Amino acid sequence: MTKMIETNLLPIYARAPVTFVEGDGCWLTDDNGERYLDFAGGIAVIGLGHRHPASTRAAHEQLDRLWHVSNLYWTIPVMELAKKLSDRFGGARTFFCNSGTEAIEAAIKYARKATGKVGAVALEGSFHGRTMGSLSITGQAAKRETFAPLLNQVSFAFLNNSLSLRAAALADTGLIIMEPILAEGGVRPVDVEFARTARALADELGALLCFDEVQTGVGRTGSFFAFEKLGVKPDLVTLAKGLANGLPIGALLVADGVSGGLEPGDHASTFGGNPVSCAAACAVVDAIDEELLANARAMGERLASGLRGLPGVSEVRGAGLLIGADVEGAAADVAARALEQRLLITTCGTDSIRLTPPLTVSARLVDQALATLREVLA
Ligand SMILES: *Cc1c(COP(=O)(O)O)cnc(C)c1O
Repeated sequence: MTKMIETNLLPIYARAPVTFVEGDGCWLTDDNGERYLDFAGGIAVIGLGHRHPASTRAAHEQLDRLWHVSNLYWTIPVMELAKKLSDRFGGARTFFCNSGTEAIEAAIKYARKATGKVGAVALEGSFHGRTMGSLSITGQAAKRETFAPLLNQVSFAFLNNSLSLRAAALADTGLIIMEPILAEGGVRPVDVEFARTARALADELGALLCFDEVQTGVGRTGSFFAFEKLGVKPDLVTLAKGLANGLPIGALLVADGVSGGLEPGDHASTFGGNPVSCAAACAVVDAIDEELLANARAMGERLASGLRGLPGVSEVRGAGLLIGADVEGAAADVAARALEQRLLITTCGTDSIRLTPPLTVSARLVDQALATLREVLA
């Protein structure tokens, strides 16, 4: 089965040799009926667990009613979702698209139009997506080099180094963008002072501050937005991964009070605001209540402290259920051995494993994952 499908796909992914056919909560089942504990969560996407009743019901009901009409007209799910996100943010308007990278592209265009300035500052080690604009501001030279020339007038600052941020931000800077926690870049949190510097610099220069919360957002780190812990309010926020619990969606939030941005004719997405994705996302946002966030924080702490006691683990970083751990040897080998033991995890960089289980995960399953990792790392 796995082999047959592979031959008809471009070999762009290094897929593990397993074909999944069903999901349920924190569990996946392969085509041989074997069960796997899912601490990858589809790369921080499956926040509520596979087939969560609320998002599944919402998507089904919308599938039975209306799939698509385009953005020439209004639909109810897109209006409801925009209202819910505005309420969570404390006043914002949203543009919907279909992925994280599209949300970033929208942020780049929005900042250019609103500020009239083309320069952007991003962080070394960041990840913002694979399309040409997003790639241009991704702080990983190895991912960019093959596809140069990209957008110019992009400079990169070092994480939590305010001096380097001041040096990178120039008069032509219209956008300062950062993930509140560098996720692909090793799960490395931005500190409060650095976030404050970024906010102050953006204000001084007339630039917009964007937090890329494609991975950290929608409860992943134990608060709805990760920036809440930084005490700094951005002008722009991008969301995607966890927003519809696995259906494709992306969003650019623009804080109320930011003006001069995109107008009719400047930007669009045929599928953006798809009613089924938006209906599922409404159910997801409703489900992210204080109880679920408290579970994400408590289970995250249990997981992090358990990891600290495992053989060969030298450092554990993160917040809520976005956790990275530096391991001995190649992280990819650790992930491959975990898969053999029926535990899914991901890596971030060559030396770190990353754990992003559903926010609904229980203490029993956290302990089970830790026990498996103890064997794998021994
Ligand atoms: C995954 C990710 C993206 C890109 O999202 P896609 O949906 O894969 O395009 C952008 N930014 C961050 C922080 C991400 O983790």
